[in-house]
Amino acid sequence: MKILFLDQSGKLGGAELSLTDVAKSYRENCLVGLFADGPFRELLEQEQIPVQVLATEQIQVSKDSNILQSLVSISSIAPLITRVAKIAHHYDLIYANTQKALVIGALASFLRRRPLVYHLRDILSADHFSATNRRIAVTLANRFASLVITNSEATKAAFIEAGGRSNIVEVVYNGFEPEKYLAQESNYNQIRQQLGLDEQFVVGHFSRLSPWKGQHILLEALVHCPDDVTAIFVGDALFGEQDYVEHLHQQVAKLGLKERVQFLGFRSDVVPLMSACDLIAHTSTAPEPFGRVIVEAMLCGRPVVAAEAGGAIELVETGKTGWLVPPGNPQQLAEIITTCRHQPEATMMIANQAKDIATQRFDLSNINQELAQLLGCI
Ligand code: UDP
Repeated sequence: MKILFLDQSGKLGGAELSLTDVAKSYRENCLVGLFADGPFRELLEQEQIPVQVLATEQIQVSKDSNILQSLVSISSIAPLITRVAKIAHHYDLIYANTQKALVIGALASFLRRRPLVYHLRDILSADHFSATNRRIAVTLANRFASLVITNSEATKAAFIEAGGRSNIVEVVYNGFEPEKYLAQESNYNQIRQQLGLDEQFVVGHFSRLSPWKGQHILLEALVHCPDDVTAIFVGDALFGEQDYVEHLHQQVAKLGLKERVQFLGFRSDVVPLMSACDLIAHTSTAPEPFGRVIVEAMLCGRPVVAAEAGGAIELVETGKTGWLVPPGNPQQLAEIITTCRHQPEATMMIANQAKDIATQRFDLSNINQELAQLLGCI
């Protein structure tokens, strides 16, 4: 089967990393069409996955845009639709990986009479999208998609709640290659030395800097933790959230945390960095569609505490594979961090258990087989 994958982003977000893992199985028979250039194209090239940047201008469909703005932007993307429709002639299936890719992919699939698959990696709720954009996504998916794949039960439930047809949806979790996450003991000491964190209890936060990812919650929690608890923040503002970055730095100064916090920016060496942490915190204040970092932490054999909402609830079972705390609650987060700080053996037992379970549950080759079966039925 020849697949034309479409993704709106040139940046490396979770959706793009997940698509790379899917497209690997089709590298001989696919093209990934991007609507923007950037590090995502470079990663696909490194992985020898055929890729082409199809748009020269950014498409404006923001979270808050109203129907009029959306229509205006659709008229400005007509040339892209024509281009995608033309390319789709050489493929059996169009596979839209993001919302803007769905808009273009749906129209191209109609023009070219090719089946459309929508891989939905967002929670279609008011927390994340305007009513207009939710309606556009659901209407296009209902009308044009033969299959909607969601990355969690939570994402599926939100799609149906927003008006999506339940009979076209299948849940497929993200897949991971466990061998890529094998920690090396030497990394642990080396990285901690480099960061000057030898004697500290290091809590890692791995996510783009964005208000709903809740980095500010971990900063607040630190105030309630023992003094040797420090935090490293790995990730950058990918979508222009500069005000939030500024706010985080002010918060650090205001709370007197300068000696206990480091911002490392976007890193491609997430595995060694995670492996050097004593605990990984996930602090999203709105429901997370899946939460790749949670599974990655487990595969690295690091204990993980996550915000109890959305897909995270399907990944973590408190006391068995990690801990869940209510979103936006720094006190309870601080309690878990402090418990882990004082009970390293019990904490590591849970981390090891989580690693075994995650290795089985999210194995990329099984997940890609599941996907191939679903695509084969279209
Ligand atoms: N990530 C990365 N470098 C960074 C920060 C994050 O490679 O500096 C990766 C992280 O390892 C994870 C992905 O970005 O694989 C984020 O996916 P997630 O599902 O957690 O969040 P999303 O970005 O999709 O909202």
